[in-house]
Amino acid sequence: ATMPPLLAAIANAGRHGVLVKSAVVMERLGQVDAVALDKTGTLTEGTPRVTDIRPLAGSGLSEGDLLALAASAEHPSEHPLARAVVDTARSRGLDLAPAQDFTSTPGIGVTATVAGRTVAVGAPARLLSNAKDTVSTRAAVVAAELEDGGRTAILIEADGVPVGLLAIADRLRPDAVGTVTALTALTGTAPMLVTGDNPRAAARLAAEVGITDVRAGLLPQDKAAAVEEQERAGRKVMVVGDGVNDAPALAAAHSGIAMGRAGSDLALETADAVIVRDELATVPAVVALSRRARALVV
Ligand code: ADP
Ligand code: MG
Repeated sequence: ATMPPLLAAIANAGRHGVLVKSAVVMERLGQVDAVALDKTGTLTEGTPRVTDIRPLAGSGLSEGDLLALAASAEHPSEHPLARAVVDTARSRGLDLAPAQDFTSTPGIGVTATVAGRTVAVGAPARLLSNAKDTVSTRAAVVAAELEDGGRTAILIEADGVPVGLLAIADRLRPDAVGTVTALTALTGTAPMLVTGDNPRAAARLAAEVGITDVRAGLLPQDKAAAVEEQERAGRKVMVVGDGVNDAPALAAAHSGIAMGRAGSDLALETADAVIVRDELATVPAVVALSRRARALVV
């Protein structure tokens, strides 16, 4: 007996390294006519490195102190930026202090108590939003300078006072440009970029891959709202993401795909399909597989 086309397509997708969760999903993938891509961990490799360590004047911290403080607070986090901070601290032989009362806010950052101090690490624009004092103003200037290079700046605060910034850079995936080109050909529209990162880093990366519709500085619910807005306009939107911050958008999407290797458990559970082999180019491949299978279903 021959296998029904959609089941054969699921098996085929599996050989490409994509786990498609059901025949219904396999069928829907071929209907998508718009795509929203996450940045960090999706278009980029998700193995970022710390490139700059900038203690603020008056903080009394050395570069090593600042990095160790940030790494101690980030240690419990599964975010790619947190892993970069912890790995860099370890590679410099720094001692990390235990973190207590750890909290994590998707799209913003983390807080923890480290050596008796309340430490916050996260997006400068979010942490500094209402502050007008001299230290905060200086921190915002350093953040802008770091972000102008297309990097992600993160701010470290101790007991509510900015003490320094780190810059973090991630590499584009080798198949990012090819994937954007292929998705543009399949859907007739270039994908949009939805990211919680700063607008400067987002614009830099978008230009490299050929994306013009860039939505930056988004909280998780903003990503979902961007998808819903397109769906209200009659589009069938595919979302590709990896983080906890992508879960609402993956849920709102017509078809949600999660990056499996470094993806958060929540993203993997919420998505309709999971890229197991860590190749972004499998996304247009499964859309094409679905379309071929649909053509055979009567
Ligand atoms: P993306 O949408 O590109 O995957 P996220 O929504 O995960 O990015 O993060 C958005 C921004 O929030 C980051 O650029 C960073 O400034 C901040 N952020 C989130 N989580 C962390 C963390 N664990 N440590 C430091 N900053 C963080
Ligand atoms: Mg991400």
